Amino acid sequence: MANHKTSNASQTTREAQELLSVRHLKTYFPIKSGVLQRVTGYVKAVDDISFKLYPGQTMSLVGESGCGKTTAGRTILRLTPKSAGDVLFEGKDIYQLDAQELRALRPQMQLIFQDPYSSLSPRMPVGEIIAEAPRQHHIVPKAQFDAYIDKIMKDCGLQPYHRDRYPHEFSGGQRQRICIARALALNPKFIVCDEPVSALDVSIQAQIINLLMDLQAQYNLTYLFISHDLSVVEHISDLIGVMYLGDLVERGTKKEVFARPLHPYTQALFSAIPVPDPDYKMNRIILEGSIPSPANPPAGCKFHTRCRYCMAICKQQVPPSYEVEPGHVVNCHLYAGSPVVDDLVGSDDMEQQLTREKLAASGDIAAGAATARGQLSAEEIVSETLKEEARADSQGAVLDRGRKWMQEREQQLERMQADRRQVETAAAALQDEAAPAVRPDDSSKTEESLK
Ligand code: SF4
Repeated sequence: MANHKTSNASQTTREAQELLSVRHLKTYFPIKSGVLQRVTGYVKAVDDISFKLYPGQTMSLVGESGCGKTTAGRTILRLTPKSAGDVLFEGKDIYQLDAQELRALRPQMQLIFQDPYSSLSPRMPVGEIIAEAPRQHHIVPKAQFDAYIDKIMKDCGLQPYHRDRYPHEFSGGQRQRICIARALALNPKFIVCDEPVSALDVSIQAQIINLLMDLQAQYNLTYLFISHDLSVVEHISDLIGVMYLGDLVERGTKKEVFARPLHPYTQALFSAIPVPDPDYKMNRIILEGSIPSPANPPAGCKFHTRCRYCMAICKQQVPPSYEVEPGHVVNCHLYAGSPVVDDLVGSDDMEQQLTREKLAASGDIAAGAATARGQLSAEEIVSETLKEEARADSQGAVLDRGRKWMQEREQQLERMQADRRQVETAAAALQDEAAPAVRPDDSSKTEESLK
């Protein structure tokens, strides 16, 4: 009993330390058509994502364009309304706050935009762009205000004399520094960085990423970093979340996800990372099949239309979240033997309504007829179908496929390491051979022979 109390108490403390907790978050945009503009469906931009962030962490959301990364960031900041789920910031549900409470919270949750050109007013001098919001929110006393803005600008690599200049007088990298200073001046705890370097060239990207990391260390900032550039993500992240068609299909620490990507989509994504070695043979996984529409995603696993490991169960059942190793969670039936950590099937009214719509629109004549006759409920039909599929493709076979893939992946990693060792040994041997030709003591001999 005492132990139970202690574990409850420690869990409460852990929850109290969480900066951000996103639970089953969904953002659906209605599709309206006809003269009466009736809602005929939904674009499921974010479809049931859950994760937690602790102070000082950086979590990166990666995935193809249109997978819902930006919408997730905006919904977390309450800039785009949610359809379901909760967003808790320091234990407070931000969607339950009234206008006054939300205004008080705003400085603590900031956003850095993708495009530094269009996110700055061309008519305001830089000093005013940075100072406007802290003045409104009374971040520092009036007497210290100018010194505070100068310090923020200096921390972001800008000079105090830049205050009177206008955005068009700056380069792309400097403009992004202005955007960072504008967010930082509000003394935030959490910043959503929405592709902050994708509009910049590579050398400037490195400067901005290093600046963000320095500021994080200095101000104990927490970032949600949205990007599709995996090399940038590898540099800055603590945690990685991989999104596909609105789902968070894999999440874990950077080390785990990069060393052992588990989800077939993550494997395909990571196989495209270029290796700076001309002799290295890339084993790129090409995804076949078209990307489904988020307005009409496939049943079961949304990735099944493009997955090379697709099984019968994948077409019927949404994969739950399996914790394959501590903190490394994947939504894929290949890992069916691992413990389930979360129930991704929503239980709210909207989800039930959409499930009914999906069943009605599925064109399954037998199911439709049976439902109409009242012989079987829609849920019973689905469970009957699943039982049949499970018989055809037993769980043992599923686990074998998962294990086989993991072995292949480990062998592939070993081969890569062996190749690299071979190249390093050859390079060292070449250097040893070349060394006597340039040795300083031999120079006299070389000169003599030339004479
Ligand atoms: S659940 Fe099935 S279709 Fe989806 S990623 Fe896993 S193996 Fe592929």
